[in-house]
Amino acid sequence: MALKEIIQEISKLNPTDQHRLKEYFTSSLASYSASEPVFKEVSERKHKDGYTCTHCHSINVTRFGTYKVKMRMQELQRQRYRCKDCKKTFTDVTNTPLYRTHLPHKWLDFVECMIEGYSLRKSSELLEVHYVTLFYWRHKLLSSLKGMDFEQFQGIVEMDETYFLYSEKGKRKLEGRKPRERGGSSKKRGISNEQVCVLVARDRQKQTFSRVVCQGRIVKSRLNEVVGSKLTATNVLCTDAWRAFMTYAKEKGLEHYRFKSDGKERVKGVFHIQNVNSYHSRLKTWIRRFNGVASKYLDHYLIWFLFLDQIKHKKNDVTVSKMIVDSCLFPTDETYDKLRLSEFSKS
Ligand SMILES: [Zn+2]
Repeated sequence: MALKEIIQEISKLNPTDQHRLKEYFTSSLASYSASEPVFKEVSERKHKDGYTCTHCHSINVTRFGTYKVKMRMQELQRQRYRCKDCKKTFTDVTNTPLYRTHLPHKWLDFVECMIEGYSLRKSSELLEVHYVTLFYWRHKLLSSLKGMDFEQFQGIVEMDETYFLYSEKGKRKLEGRKPRERGGSSKKRGISNEQVCVLVARDRQKQTFSRVVCQGRIVKSRLNEVVGSKLTATNVLCTDAWRAFMTYAKEKGLEHYRFKSDGKERVKGVFHIQNVNSYHSRLKTWIRRFNGVASKYLDHYLIWFLFLDQIKHKKNDVTVSKMIVDSCLFPTDETYDKLRLSEFSKS
């Protein structure tokens, strides 16, 4: 059909359909013009020291033809590379959450939904993408963001643990026990292996460690495994009264302030654990919207919240692009099956 005929056909449409068509064009073109700068930034950040191999990190890399990407309205040419050392080819999105995605233009909208913290169902309605696909996107992106890290804490470090009930939500067959009601409570009193321990440590520059560390109470040796490399004798540790923190600080030679949860003294000048405690309570409030999360994915939700906390839960072009770019800088090889079949582990 010639363009002239198409225009004639359009003029026959009723006003509602004409409006729909206009919306369609506007959103298609907008998603293109919004996603291209993000893609460019991913490429520039990945190759900040010159072209670098995704597989073996060699810089002995040449450009190796292009490949086509179909966006809704455009077909784009993208660069392919080849490593002279490992002989493998790759693109800017190899081993990133965007790898093998057929709907690259939907990613910006999807990340907006993630920043809003929308459910998969709501996001699915908005984006017109199946929620199982979105589930996979969500966890691919979060597994990449888990690569975000920092070298060392500075100065005062507040550290405290919090607990989530162990959950196998989503697993088809529960062996050995009946499934708990959503968001149910533990049968046992106090802290037991039914609880998953999340350790949050944060310095005053807001460098934050937030990970699943064990089931039940944390012990000294585990503390050292997870945060030992980030602490030096120059740090001052502020914790609650739990024994493991005390013996750990003593062994590590750290100056240490303890605050009893029921104690009267909650602050000793600049020394307190109120930042970490408030982080915990914001995290718990935020995570409630998911009606309980499977423990094997809890780390993903922790990194999601940490990211949102850093961007202060604000949704704008800068933060959306930051979330995609950051996630593309850390390799992931998650596949849908790998995610689905994975088990809870304290990595
Ligand atoms: Zn290579």
